[in-house]
Amino acid sequence: MIKAHYEAVKDIIRDKAVLCAVTKRRSLQEIREYYDAGERIFAENRAQDLKERAAALPSDIRWQFIGHLQRNKVKDIISFVDCIQSLDSLPLAAVIEKEAARANRTVDVLIEFHLAEEDTNKSGLAKEDAFPFVREILKYEHLNLKGMMAMGPHTDDEDRIREVFEEARQLFLSLRNEFGEDHFRVLSMGMSDDFRIAVECGSTMVRIGTYLFEE
Ligand SMILES: *Cc1c(COP(=O)(O)O)cnc(C)c1O
Repeated sequence: MIKAHYEAVKDIIRDKAVLCAVTKRRSLQEIREYYDAGERIFAENRAQDLKERAAALPSDIRWQFIGHLQRNKVKDIISFVDCIQSLDSLPLAAVIEKEAARANRTVDVLIEFHLAEEDTNKSGLAKEDAFPFVREILKYEHLNLKGMMAMGPHTDDEDRIREVFEEARQLFLSLRNEFGEDHFRVLSMGMSDDFRIAVECGSTMVRIGTYLFEE
């Protein structure tokens, strides 16, 4: 049964942001319920899981990869993934380019930024590196740069969360200004605990797992 939380999420995001349902650790049946309710954007953070689930579920699902992606795993997901949201290094970009070319396709990518400096174990690009990084990414023929992904800090302090999301929004706008809105349409930010704030700060895609799947 679809949870009441689903209605609450839709009510908050309305037409401002789209929902990316984070299906990691959920059963195929749980995912199916959201598919049957009309959702098509699902995300996994492990290559093996994305591959297995993509094979087992309808092919019109737009699978998002949101975890740390090892370069040797790119080939496992390249035929199944719609968008890799966690692009944060040039060596990774080079491998995605190579595998996408080999699979004769293009793949959407978001650049993941690490903005919450207090969370030291998180992956993501430093914002100081943003402009030169984007210039390199735009040289790759099989990568479609669509925007960026960011995570709020791991804290209960709403002011601090808002500060980081505002910083993400400013970075997004300056990149869009420099490189054009075709390459900066998606600002992926907001999870179960902070998506309300993220939407207020201009998120265009929220990535929600726990809140959707648990009462
Ligand atoms: C797990 C995960 C989410 C969803 O987190 P919830 O707190 O379960 O909503 C969003 N983004 C990333 C990158 C994740 O790994």
